[in-house]
Amino acid sequence: MLFGRHSKNPIRIADKEVAGWTYTTCGYCSTGCAIEVGKNARGQVVASRGVGGADVNRGKLCLKGMFEHELFDAKGRGDEPLLRRHLGESFAPVSWDGALDHMTAEIRRIQAQHGRDAFAVVSTGQILTEEFYTLGKLTRGLIGTNNYDGNTTLCMASAVSGYKRSFGSDGPPGCYQDFEHTDCLIAWGSNLPEQHPIIYWRLKEALEKRRFPLIVVDPRVTMFAQFADIHLPVKPGTDVALQNALMHVILAEGLENAEYIAGNTTGIDELRAEVAKWDPTTAAAVCGIDEDSIRNVARLYARAPAAMHIWTMGINQSTHGSDGVVGMNNLALLTGNVGKPGGTALSITGQCNAMGTREWSSCSGLPGYRALEKPEHRAEIAQFWNIDPAFLPQKRGLFQTDIFPAIETGQIRGLWLVATNPLTSMPNTARIRKTLEKLEFLVVQDSYADMETNQYAHLYLPAAVWAEKEGTFTNTERRVNLVRRVTEPRTGTKSDLEIFNELARRFDPEGRVRFPERPAEVFEEMRELSRGRLCDLSGMDHDLIEQRRGIQWPFTRDQREAGEMPPPGGVRLYTTPRSFQYPDGCAKLIPLPFVDNNERPDTQYPFWLNSGRLVEHFHTRTRTGKVGNNNKYSPIPFMEINPDAAVELGIRHQEYVRCVSRRGDALVMAMLTQRVPRDMVFIPFHFFDCVNRLTLGLLDPHSRQPAFKQSAVRVERVADQTAAARLCLEARKY
Ligand code: SF4
Repeated sequence: MLFGRHSKNPIRIADKEVAGWTYTTCGYCSTGCAIEVGKNARGQVVASRGVGGADVNRGKLCLKGMFEHELFDAKGRGDEPLLRRHLGESFAPVSWDGALDHMTAEIRRIQAQHGRDAFAVVSTGQILTEEFYTLGKLTRGLIGTNNYDGNTTLCMASAVSGYKRSFGSDGPPGCYQDFEHTDCLIAWGSNLPEQHPIIYWRLKEALEKRRFPLIVVDPRVTMFAQFADIHLPVKPGTDVALQNALMHVILAEGLENAEYIAGNTTGIDELRAEVAKWDPTTAAAVCGIDEDSIRNVARLYARAPAAMHIWTMGINQSTHGSDGVVGMNNLALLTGNVGKPGGTALSITGQCNAMGTREWSSCSGLPGYRALEKPEHRAEIAQFWNIDPAFLPQKRGLFQTDIFPAIETGQIRGLWLVATNPLTSMPNTARIRKTLEKLEFLVVQDSYADMETNQYAHLYLPAAVWAEKEGTFTNTERRVNLVRRVTEPRTGTKSDLEIFNELARRFDPEGRVRFPERPAEVFEEMRELSRGRLCDLSGMDHDLIEQRRGIQWPFTRDQREAGEMPPPGGVRLYTTPRSFQYPDGCAKLIPLPFVDNNERPDTQYPFWLNSGRLVEHFHTRTRTGKVGNNNKYSPIPFMEINPDAAVELGIRHQEYVRCVSRRGDALVMAMLTQRVPRDMVFIPFHFFDCVNRLTLGLLDPHSRQPAFKQSAVRVERVADQTAAARLCLEARKY
């Protein structure tokens, strides 16, 4: 294939000789792009391409998706279970039966000696929904521990909590098609072009057809902020003050939708009383946004016929994360911008199947958005699974971020990690190291044996990767899409579903609880349990999902039997009056008093530390760190620092520096840029032994999500630049 000038030095791309393509769905971010993976005549996986007929990505892929086929043979894949009795000893290979027998015996031992909840499970947003559902059945129905959570507590817990508080249930109400209808978009703490490039492309396409104001709220001049009409560089952690001021202006100037408020919400008087305190002058002193901008944005938003919010980690990863989500929901409810085209508050999820775990994993409750706290939900699930309802706990157990402190105190003795890497992803990783050392038994189940947390495992289980398996993901806009198996699991590995099912046979040898083997059969169980729930997918099956290139829930059996086909895009929640999930059908307007409770810069640690993602990498680089075309564009940890601050510290562009907090230090390359203000530095979160050695991670009181983006640090120039360069290269690991 030729590109560029065809007559002189054309760029030649070798023919991959693809003999056949298999439909699947990208396994990185929550955008949910449909991918086809190509194999050559010898059965080797050689290429990835976007699916033209898929509504989400319409043939496009980002840098990660384009090279996703390289993951099957990436370095570091595990190919046999590994066992050791004590940390410090070497791992020895063990058979699958030996590994799973040992794991069962250790879980039983710990539970017998210390109680059922002394063994904890932390799962992920990466595996398939059918696998989440099965893990939930195993954990809640057979093992019986209540200390079971997902690593989604690090990314989406505040969104879940905020939706539940405002609307009575989790479930993002909007969809990507809203970009085509909105008249004003406010993006909070989201660098969409780098984090979710294909969602950004959908937004950009909508903006090219029809101009509307794009407002980006972010302390950093991100790529998204540079493309915005208005950038509000809010002070870290003060979004709630800004939201209260926007509501103040809307109510003071009579710009609210009184009819919608009266018909669909409760709590307006309490909200009005709170926001009365937040006039723009008062708020400006807290959030750093000038009064005129506050008034201007409030008017633009409230006067738009349809207006929407999107957000990601800038809101969620905060001590006020849940309140920040409620603040956006409040704004949407005040102006009647819920459940209508272009009017929504849409959380942009992180991992490919963060939504699947929210809906079906039973981490925070029971399948299909059921609650452990409701006896009728416990009874329904217990009957369906054929277990005693009394075996289910009556309220949720510890969040992931509370499980680690419970290990420190000895409350938890054993831990099973499924596709998550806390030694890189958790705040204050020095503390996490010490915590992991205390465990009597740690199981790491992951596709990659070289992922960092495995240093502390007693048992390692090698799992099949992404499209070596079959099942579904749910994306940000509630679209269920299909991962078809492209190739068989690597020799020596098992799919996560197979691992869960084999453990279930050990915990329930008489087969009292049914654990189907085929993903499509598991989906049938989920379909039954979804009937009548908000996340109703009873009209779907795997084949129809593939045929339609993904289907948004709800899509009910009644719709299917009536011959209704799911529309390609544009299914929304709460489209009819009083259809929220509280018993009275009304959403809650919730007052948000603001207390600034973060660690703040001072004379000793004078910079805010901000962290976030890069377009080339995904999470802790267990995958993208090994894909050459991703890794080469962003090979080492770096830190953005404002040139004025750098001059004062005697730091030049691309010199190595030591960044120090009260928790630890990290070596990074300094990149001088105006993207960060004078009192802030930014470090990507992907690298091992880097930014999370520094972060404090205070927890949001509602969601228990850590504040990754609000810590204080100082910066020191490193005298020996050559040694620093060597250490930095060694630390990059891949
Ligand atoms: Fe995959 Fe997300 Fe990139 Fe789409 S935008 S190709 S889902 S990583």
